[in-house]
Amino acid sequence: MIIAIAGTNGAGKDEAARYFEEKGFAHYSLSDVLRDIARSRNQDPTREVLQELGNMLRTEHGEAYLTNRVLKEAQGALNIVISSVRNLGELEPVRTTDGFKLLFIDAPVEVRFARVKSRGRVGEGLTLDEFIELERREFNGGEGKQNLDELRDAADAVITNDGSIEDLHENVSAAVGDTGRRRRLSWDEYFMQIARQVGSRSTCDRKRCGAVLVRDRVILSTGYNGSISGTPHCDDVGHMIENGHCVRTIHAEMNAIAQAAKNGVNINGSTLYVTASPCWECFKVLANAGIRRICFGEFYRNERVLEAAKQIGVEMSDLSAALNEPSSE
Ligand SMILES: [Zn+2]
Ligand SMILES: [Zn+2]
Repeated sequence: MIIAIAGTNGAGKDEAARYFEEKGFAHYSLSDVLRDIARSRNQDPTREVLQELGNMLRTEHGEAYLTNRVLKEAQGALNIVISSVRNLGELEPVRTTDGFKLLFIDAPVEVRFARVKSRGRVGEGLTLDEFIELERREFNGGEGKQNLDELRDAADAVITNDGSIEDLHENVSAAVGDTGRRRRLSWDEYFMQIARQVGSRSTCDRKRCGAVLVRDRVILSTGYNGSISGTPHCDDVGHMIENGHCVRTIHAEMNAIAQAAKNGVNINGSTLYVTASPCWECFKVLANAGIRRICFGEFYRNERVLEAAKQIGVEMSDLSAALNEPSSE
């Protein structure tokens, strides 16, 4: 999915783009792309140089040259936000893509003038009137030039950014609806969420844990903490407490290994996703079963495990952030 952001000077276009970055979008600024091209040609990217180079590229390779370049570079990225869009022609290759949205960010001219001044983006002596005059020229520059009027007219939403950053993010979020929030899970998040689902089957309420053994993105085995098959569950008959621990259950990690053993599945070199980091007893067996990476959703305080993992080269990955993410949106 592709989002494009345009707007007036000092309106907060970068901040709007940042909202999408935080949602996992790959961000490309067309003016940064142009700047990179200038540098690769050993040109100093001054305003004049960029303007001339931009016009030249558009004449030679078409209006959407920079956008096409971004699309080529972003190959594989699922969600893209493109900022510093100067005219509608630049959006030709993306306007018809599924879920495309163009946002136009604006704010009262006095507010924007104060912002660009405080950022030192304009000359010291520039007055508000001169700022307005400069901008007037940008609004309708004709073919190949900056044309903010046509962008504003074509925008799916025009957002006025005269409040806080939080307000801006909220308005942007509302403008793109669900699409802005939908983000494909990473593999780590994916398997960790599955581990959480597996853990929901556990039968001891002292701690519900789930474990998934994975190699090459394929699930080899799963386990949750529960009693020996065929014997009663803690949830039904109460715990079997010894030295302050419930010893009725087999831990999720051990059950994942047992399931693999029962089915003759090779788990050597695999990765374990487990909702809480393993206890010492489980860790010892995991290590000798050949597990090379342990991803946990919550750290179950055990320094001895960390030390031993380091010693034998088992990678310990804290995925607590991934686990806390809602499982579906
Ligand atoms: Zn129990
Ligand atoms: Zn354990």
